[in-house]
Amino acid sequence: MRIVNPATEEVVTEIEFADAAETDRAVERAKRAFAVWRTVAPGDRARLLRSFARLVGEHAEELTQLEITNAGHTVGNARWEAGNVRDVLDFYAGAPERNQGRQIPVHGGLDVTFQEPLGVVGVIVPWNFPMVIMTWGVAPALAAGNTVIVKPAEWTPLTALRLAELGLAAGLPEGVLQVVPGTGEVVGARLVEHPDVAKIVFTGSTEVGKRIAAKCAGQVKRLTLELSGKSANVVFADADLGMAAASAPYAVFDNAGQDCCARSRILVERVVHDDFLDRLSRAVQRVRVGDPRDARTEMGPLISAEHRDRVASFVTDPPHATGFCPPAPGFWYPPTVLVPDGLDDPAFTEEIFGPVVTVVPFDDEADAVRIANSTRYGLSGSIWTRDIGRALRVARAIEAGNLSVNSHSSVRYWTPFGGFKQSGLGRELGPDALSAFTETKNVFFSEE
Ligand code: NAD
Repeated sequence: MRIVNPATEEVVTEIEFADAAETDRAVERAKRAFAVWRTVAPGDRARLLRSFARLVGEHAEELTQLEITNAGHTVGNARWEAGNVRDVLDFYAGAPERNQGRQIPVHGGLDVTFQEPLGVVGVIVPWNFPMVIMTWGVAPALAAGNTVIVKPAEWTPLTALRLAELGLAAGLPEGVLQVVPGTGEVVGARLVEHPDVAKIVFTGSTEVGKRIAAKCAGQVKRLTLELSGKSANVVFADADLGMAAASAPYAVFDNAGQDCCARSRILVERVVHDDFLDRLSRAVQRVRVGDPRDARTEMGPLISAEHRDRVASFVTDPPHATGFCPPAPGFWYPPTVLVPDGLDDPAFTEEIFGPVVTVVPFDDEADAVRIANSTRYGLSGSIWTRDIGRALRVARAIEAGNLSVNSHSSVRYWTPFGGFKQSGLGRELGPDALSAFTETKNVFFSEE
């Protein structure tokens, strides 16, 4: 597979894809490694994960440059991502010694629970945030004593492959963390079907996620799903309109809109709708789009020509406003503001996964909640108001897993992350992430 720099369209390298037989061999290695890894003392597992984190920190700039070249991420984003990988590994390095069970009062003996590792875990990753999404699965899975096989997205395997090398260099035993590049239909599907893979962590589209869930059901295979989104940014008339409008572009155009949490539906209270739209349009024109290596750049290219065509297909009418679009080469698309015809316009209902935002008015709080929830997705969202009671009511009423009030907070690794409705199943990150990678075993010891 030819790996292409999306900002220049130059071929960076070629990666050989694995077939089903190679995937099976990886599962066999992971299974053998599990027998060893699960018995490594918690403190030693912690030390190895800490070394891995340290090595990632030492190679952060190399990982940053790889992600810029492979995925077109801006240097600011890519540096944050490499730091996030280091921090997530470091955070879950604290978990092996805290992976406690419970002692529950019973008559006639002692009752305790153990948090047992599952076995081999398959982590299937999309192309939009390759190294962080991989690590959100890998770090807690390893901390709990599982072994992991990562299937990176076809277009973006480079940081995943490098991270596997760093893991080995940090001292992880052979087979504990493997990266197997390949297509979803071959390597991904084989991991899902393989009877020796105990769990799948899938991040990607809702469409593929549903197919994987159906296949996992056949084996009652454990599954975490992180899927698509169409999140709302709800702006009430009493909000700090200047701040809400100035920050809105970054809540949807970050990573060129290729962000599952993108606040791509902006709902504005009708009395300030036109004022907000003017401010937003001016803010969009100020977004710096261009060379991802330039530290001043705020938005880079889309991942591929194919994806750019898909994004463009949603823009059927002349946009209300557009920002800058660099000339070819590169898979560029300008930040774009649409005022849709109605609430059933596909640009308002479908995940575009590009730098296109739709703005609609609402009448009152109940109307805002109704529109925000009129989607099959429920991943994230923002609420802008100075009324704390309203902020609380609306935050409780919106059906989404990750909300922020008067901000557009990004994902924090020490808080739980995941989707309501068709945006996902289960949670990643946060203090309880290990529960998604363990089974609770209850054991009763008789006094007799
Ligand atoms: P995708 O569903 O096309 O692919 C995701 C991964 O699944 C890739 O590695 C792909 O090779 C693999 N795959 C494809 N078909 C498969 C199959 N039949 N069996 C097993 N694996 C298969 O998604 P994408 O285009 O790479 O990523 C974009 C999507 O990911 C968007 O919908 C976005 O919202 C979603 N996403 C969600 C989150 C979240 O945390 N909720 C985060 C990032 C991206």
